[in-house]
Amino acid sequence: MSDSKTERPDSASAPRGAAAGESRQDSGPANFVRERIASDLAAGLNDGRVATRFPPEPNGYLHIGHAKSICLNFGMADEFAGTCNLRFDDTNPEAEDTEYVDAIREDVRWLGFDWQEREFFASDYFERLYQFAIELIKAGKAYVCSLPADKVREYRGNFYQPGKDSPDRGRSIEENLELFARMRAGEFADGQYTLRAKIDMQSANLNLRDPPIYRIKRVDHHRTGNAWPIYPMYDFAHGLSDALEGITHSICTLEFEDHRPLYDWFLDNLEVPARPQQIEFARLNLTYTVMSKRKLAQLVRERLVDGWNDPRMPTLCGMRRRGYTPEAIRAFVERIGVAKRDGVVDVSLLEHAVREDLNARCPRLMGVLRPLKLTIENFPAGRSEMIEAPLFPDEPERGNRTLRLTRTVYVERDDFREEAPRKWFRLAPGKEVRLRYACLVTCTDVVRDADGNVVELLCRWDPESLGGKSPDGRKVKGTLHWVSADHAIDAEIRLYDRLFNVENPAAEGHDFHEFINPDALEVITDAKLEPRLGEMSPGEHVQFERLGYFCADQPHEGMTVFNRTIGLRDSWAKLEKKLKADS
Ligand code: ATP
Ligand code: MG
Repeated sequence: MSDSKTERPDSASAPRGAAAGESRQDSGPANFVRERIASDLAAGLNDGRVATRFPPEPNGYLHIGHAKSICLNFGMADEFAGTCNLRFDDTNPEAEDTEYVDAIREDVRWLGFDWQEREFFASDYFERLYQFAIELIKAGKAYVCSLPADKVREYRGNFYQPGKDSPDRGRSIEENLELFARMRAGEFADGQYTLRAKIDMQSANLNLRDPPIYRIKRVDHHRTGNAWPIYPMYDFAHGLSDALEGITHSICTLEFEDHRPLYDWFLDNLEVPARPQQIEFARLNLTYTVMSKRKLAQLVRERLVDGWNDPRMPTLCGMRRRGYTPEAIRAFVERIGVAKRDGVVDVSLLEHAVREDLNARCPRLMGVLRPLKLTIENFPAGRSEMIEAPLFPDEPERGNRTLRLTRTVYVERDDFREEAPRKWFRLAPGKEVRLRYACLVTCTDVVRDADGNVVELLCRWDPESLGGKSPDGRKVKGTLHWVSADHAIDAEIRLYDRLFNVENPAAEGHDFHEFINPDALEVITDAKLEPRLGEMSPGEHVQFERLGYFCADQPHEGMTVFNRTIGLRDSWAKLEKKLKADS
């Protein structure tokens, strides 16, 4: 059984279907884990202690699903004055790397949780786990099996078929001890032997049909190097690591439910210092998102995205670069609750939490993504009007920045129509609009290039309207964002959208490649921003008026870069409504 894919239940097969927010109740989101811990405490279990752990395998970066587990484990520890360990579950050396260990630490900290000195590695327990295995052999409860992986599988039977004993099941304790010692000494080839728990080949639970607990794998480990040619299997290592750390509540996802009898069997059959209990909850699935690390790694490997922290990825580092905040993610996780039944949460719920958080924290500034020159013909060249404009229009006490109105400004190309439809309140020949905070202008003419494209708008302003007020109370409905052509900075803007264009990109019978949204990234390299935006540091959040929320990224070839976190409104909701109406 050296096939690493069979070590853990396959999360990709988790059932889908329940509606988003099903766990929500009037009294706040349901969380049965909280109730369970509270009742354990009330019953006096574990001497009143609560100890949880977050156990990532360092074989990839953390995603928003992990955030649910992190918030739950650290959250329960906080609420019940307990502790939460960070444990790297590193028993599977091929895919694991210190790069991931470092990234996981950074992401958990970023989310707002602190494990203090309680950082552990399953690999720290290799010697103790080895001794536990010997203890099982000595008790006649484990044996060295020579069946190759395919035979182990065949002999295990299936749901309808009972298992068949391995020919090695009756091997003597002495022989088992000797063979296991030789496995550990590195005398055998990969896959030549396994150590298996001797439980019950007739059990209705396949996990109890003599599961392998050690396999030979002569692969270097990122922490123990070549010290171990054998590695413990997940089911064996996990519960015993929990016991060694004195965990009281071992919270994991539903696909481990059928493994609980095995989890308990090891604890019941070994001298362990504590008796943790496994509690399973429904993993987070999101619409328009693939969540399994395997698929995310594939996206990275095939360069379908630009690394684990590509802002289109549902990884925590990707979301951070995209401009999602830890507060928004925590609020989202709190809102969806913790249920015992698998479901799929609508990604717009996450997006809503992000908007809500950014709305409260972001200053409002102006940037023009697709600039169109606008010249105010009756505004003297060389003149520059200083205008104080609030950073937070609803909270003017939070400060201003200075805008400069000049003869030539840039407006958004989309804000001009030569043939204006009815109820068009933006720019069109003859129409008057307000430049936000600045003045009223009326479009009088346009300038075209050789191909007839409009390349410049000619306008006249009402000098009485300086500051943007209508001087005689005349109605000017449209208010546009703009920047001064003389003062604006150049910027690269990356517009991000959902990476997949169907609700369930992991649908069975399909390859997720079919559903990749080709428009999930659009790069604009000639945007114009008000100067204040050039002073922002990577990671700072801002609302571009009328356009959405953006987050500063590292400069690219000397140019300021902003990533669009999210638009101001849910454009997908509209789209979906339309699709439904059309069908
Ligand atoms: P994936 O299934 O995405 O490959 P994993 O389960 O292999 O992830 P681990 O490193 O083993 O990743 O996960 C660490 C912890 O995070 C586990 O306790 C796991 O149950 C939990 N976890 C992983 N994915 C989710 C999810 N989508 N929702 C909630 N918890 C999750
Ligand atoms: Mg898993």
